[in-house]
Amino acid sequence: MNHERKAYDIFSDLEDFFNFIDECIGDVCFVVEEKKDNDQDNSGKLTDSEQKKSISSEKKHQVSIFETIILECSKLPEPYTAIYEEKSKIIKEIAERIKHCKDCELYKGRTNAVPGDGNPNTYVVFVGEAPGYDEDKRGKPFVGKSGKLLNKLIEDILGLKREDVFITNVVRCRPPQNRTPDKKEIEACSHYLFEELDVIKPKLVVALGAPAAKVLLDKDEKISELRGNFYTRSDFTVFVTFHPAFVIRNPAYMEVLQEDFKKIKEFLQAI
Ligand code: URA
Repeated sequence: MNHERKAYDIFSDLEDFFNFIDECIGDVCFVVEEKKDNDQDNSGKLTDSEQKKSISSEKKHQVSIFETIILECSKLPEPYTAIYEEKSKIIKEIAERIKHCKDCELYKGRTNAVPGDGNPNTYVVFVGEAPGYDEDKRGKPFVGKSGKLLNKLIEDILGLKREDVFITNVVRCRPPQNRTPDKKEIEACSHYLFEELDVIKPKLVVALGAPAAKVLLDKDEKISELRGNFYTRSDFTVFVTFHPAFVIRNPAYMEVLQEDFKKIKEFLQAI
């Protein structure tokens, strides 16, 4: 991407960002001041299309616009930063409780419990089943083979980075031999998932595989019947797809998984 195009994209994102803040909090005015020295007619304020046009003008001018945007950012009202910091703080507190949890027998076999990981200010959360070998060793969700595939889908299809989203699990300690967590383990552990979701308040929660779909939807249908669809809950929308580990074992389903991620992208674009 050339610099001008990149600058334009960043500028558009910032405009969306300010409009979003304005909608949420009100009283934030998106004003970019023109700083051309010899422009006598300049009233000091630009319309939206003038702002965009000015991006493609000389570099010096671009820099002055971005300086002003940064200045405006620093004037953002307290509540926005406060919300972000408060979310991170509560997510860290939940993580601490998960690390010391002994609510079911799985803690006896763990190296590390695995709290959720990522951006608590995201619109989209991915929910897996339980940590595997690599996750247990590192104390982080989806860092093994399944994680590599998940990261690739997030980057290549959604155009996001792993750090932009939040990734978590239904159960936080590795079950022996990576077996599916049983009903008792899920019942003992899933409140942590709902606590995380309550703080993050995502628009979309992606259930990766049957245990996540069952916990989030309380439905008994098979994953093959649930997948590929959006389900509206009062607090967020749930989308069900296959678990990446299943697709690694059954590569014939890769295309289906990719198509599902395209649906996720469409949903996120329409927000
Ligand atoms: N599989 C999961 O369901 N979760 C992980 O964190 C890793 C693999």
